[in-house]
Amino acid sequence: MGVPLLDMSRQYAYLKAELDAAVIAVLTHGGFVLGPEVTMLEQQVSQLTRVPHAVGVASGTDALLVALIAAGVEAGDEVITTDFSFFATAGVIHRLGAKPVLVDIEEDTFNLDPGLIEAAITPGTKAVIPVHLFGQCADMDPIMAIARRHNLIVIEDAAQAIGSEYRGQKAGSIGDMGAFSFYPTKNLGGAGDGGMITTNSDEFADACAMIRVHGAKRKYYHDMVGLNSRLDTLQAAVLLVKMKYLNDWSLKRQQWAARYNEAFASRPEIRTPVTKDYATFHIFNQYTIVVNNRDEVVEGLRKAEIGCMIYYPVPFHLQPCFAYLGHAPQEFPVSGRVAQSVLSLPIYPEMTQDEQDEVIEAVIKLAR
Ligand SMILES: *Cc1c(COP(=O)(O)O)cnc(C)c1O
Repeated sequence: MGVPLLDMSRQYAYLKAELDAAVIAVLTHGGFVLGPEVTMLEQQVSQLTRVPHAVGVASGTDALLVALIAAGVEAGDEVITTDFSFFATAGVIHRLGAKPVLVDIEEDTFNLDPGLIEAAITPGTKAVIPVHLFGQCADMDPIMAIARRHNLIVIEDAAQAIGSEYRGQKAGSIGDMGAFSFYPTKNLGGAGDGGMITTNSDEFADACAMIRVHGAKRKYYHDMVGLNSRLDTLQAAVLLVKMKYLNDWSLKRQQWAARYNEAFASRPEIRTPVTKDYATFHIFNQYTIVVNNRDEVVEGLRKAEIGCMIYYPVPFHLQPCFAYLGHAPQEFPVSGRVAQSVLSLPIYPEMTQDEQDEVIEAVIKLAR
């Protein structure tokens, strides 16, 4: 039968009337750049994450980049982050001429290991970017304690974690700033690129709003050099429609995750994702298992036309573009190991039970 990794046409099928109307409304009013829907979405995201400010930008990558600029990170500074994430997390640090200082991860959560941060701090360290990978928050209490002790700014990479909670606090509300992505495959996905920064700080919010319009507070008067990075009104309109469903979708993902966990529970060769006590709301942007014969399982699933993906096959320290950091191949043993054994399975709200059963059966047959 086959199961897609993700099928966005199913969501469009039941949201078609609402989405079409929302898009036509923007085409009709014509406020394409920073129009009313952008402000409305910013308000809704700030309510959802329980922070006073949210600033829409052009992508999740730009959310990280703008937040780093607002934090004052400049060429020559050091920024600590995980060795295991989507490329953008480390890419934005490099883009500013700063140095990505990589730290290994926890084997069970795939998130940055807080116990390794302190040893990575130098007088040049300016900020830390923990990533809430696959929808589960990183262990923020120890991360924040270390950051406060050393005067470091914390930018949460919450691109995969909208609505996720750490001990009851929303992702994006714990650090100094949070960066979200509305890339179509995220839990709240647009019809193209989009992103948002959340913050409790009036100063950071002002800075981000200025940076996204070329650094001008008043049009054509520039106190600083920023960039052109706005969330399109059309994207905001699409996202506003989907916001209403976001919580239900996250609950549905949790149900699918629980069902996978149950099906794989008696199979020690399939390590299911670990949800920590502190992850009081895990949004399962991905459902990621660990299997020893990962590449064989991938091949088998592809033959059966069952969607799967390796997030991520190459940790940052092994990326050719970061060879200049001078890391040895074995330097981050956990992320090195994890990159060779992780596999993400289909987990989207519109998946059917029959489809999930097909995935389960195939994985059990293939894993050793
Ligand atoms: C998707 C993602 C980003 C980048 O978001 P874009 O909107 O694709 O630019 C950054 N970090 C993580 C962890 C992501 O998953």
